[in-house]
Amino acid sequence: MQKNKFDIGNIVFEPFKIKSVEPLPLTSAEERQKWIKSAGFNVFALKSNQVTIDLLTDSGTSAMSDRQWAEMIRADESYAGSRNFVELEETVQELTGMPYVIPVHQGRAAEHLLFSTLLKGGEIIPSNGHFDTTQANIEDCGASAVNLPIVEALDPFLEYPFKGNLCISKLEELLQEKEAQIPIVMLTITNNTGGGQPVSLENIEAVAKIAKKYKKLFIIDACRFAENSFFIKIREEGYADKTPKQIAQKIFSLCDAITFSGKKDAISNIGGLLCFRDQQLAEELKNRLIITEGFPTYGGLAGYSLAAMNQGLKEVLVEDYLSYRLRTVSWTAERLIESGIPVVRPAGGHAIYIEAAKFFDHISRQHLPGIALTTAMYELGGIRGCELGTVAFGKRDEKGEHIFPALDLVRLAFPRRVYTEAHMGYVVECIKHIYNSRASYSGFEFEQEYKVLRHFRSTFRRV
Ligand SMILES: *Cc1c(COP(=O)(O)O)cnc(C)c1O
Repeated sequence: MQKNKFDIGNIVFEPFKIKSVEPLPLTSAEERQKWIKSAGFNVFALKSNQVTIDLLTDSGTSAMSDRQWAEMIRADESYAGSRNFVELEETVQELTGMPYVIPVHQGRAAEHLLFSTLLKGGEIIPSNGHFDTTQANIEDCGASAVNLPIVEALDPFLEYPFKGNLCISKLEELLQEKEAQIPIVMLTITNNTGGGQPVSLENIEAVAKIAKKYKKLFIIDACRFAENSFFIKIREEGYADKTPKQIAQKIFSLCDAITFSGKKDAISNIGGLLCFRDQQLAEELKNRLIITEGFPTYGGLAGYSLAAMNQGLKEVLVEDYLSYRLRTVSWTAERLIESGIPVVRPAGGHAIYIEAAKFFDHISRQHLPGIALTTAMYELGGIRGCELGTVAFGKRDEKGEHIFPALDLVRLAFPRRVYTEAHMGYVVECIKHIYNSRASYSGFEFEQEYKVLRHFRSTFRRV
């Protein structure tokens, strides 16, 4: 694994110093037991001041830089033609090579705008791995979202450099069978649902070639484009001498449109983008944007949020930042793996994923080992992770029996520039402690179960 050039031994070198601090909520075990119980054992229902280390998501939780805050104060809040839109548009055009840049309030708004314009119902949209909101937006238009990961991605413990790749032969097969139903081919970089795993440039090129051959729109969900670009630099032959920006530019040159959440690799607290090349589509989308998000030069955002994204997009491509970013995640994963804890390998770009059904191998999958683990981490250490297993991705058949997803994962997502090595060391120690006394933990079942995106609001009880 690539290390930061300031790495000495096994430390994580954070390439910044801290000039504004926020105290961490320090709570007692009794308080945490009471709070998680009244949250129905769903960590989404906890209040943030009840959480000490919050690894629920890396979305919108980044620490902004002094420069981002400075740009926010300087921002222009004009309704139309804001300077911050012009500056952001220039940055994004240069990065993506796409002439049309539409700001939106977050990634899913870009998805909604695009799919509700392009889809009529009955279509099939293949991808390496659709994110949950992408899938929900596609299904909301009456179309279906299909994931075509490579076989290597199905083995969570197999070391493979580009587990985010899309299976090219499965894509060709699907296109040969159902071409008329497929207007769009998608790629998510990095593949969030698949463990934050990167996609290689070779794979992106191959998908682009097939999309071109069949005359399909090729759309990249680019939420973590900078992390993916850095993985290409350090893992793919031929890119070691390229900058992350050059690699990102190459990626974007291969697709027709981009959906993007500024809450990820724009290191911002809110915002998103929709970028594309087609002028006619631009006209249509801008008109629809006015109905749902706002005028095309602000798209539902304040001028200061456009400013934060613009500056964040520059900082996120700095190599020292990216090297530190990926190292924090791999450092944590290495320590857990050393202790025998089943972590998805290799470590992803923004998160580590623990296989909860293997961690708690005495808890059957219908008793939700992922909820047992998120509860244990919170009760012991005030740590908030996110179940991405049976609760998030499972379903019920007609008889009400569980349909299990492939794995029962718990995700620990890393907010950008927020926690230090000491904080992650604390997280590692807590998880080790739970693992060493794992036999004393028991499972859960649904109390109140919601049908869609059920991890957000369902509640549970101990069995
Ligand atoms: C977060 C995310 C989205 C949705 O973006 P929001 O800003 O949360 O609406 C879409 N795709 C991927 C891969 C994401 O990680």
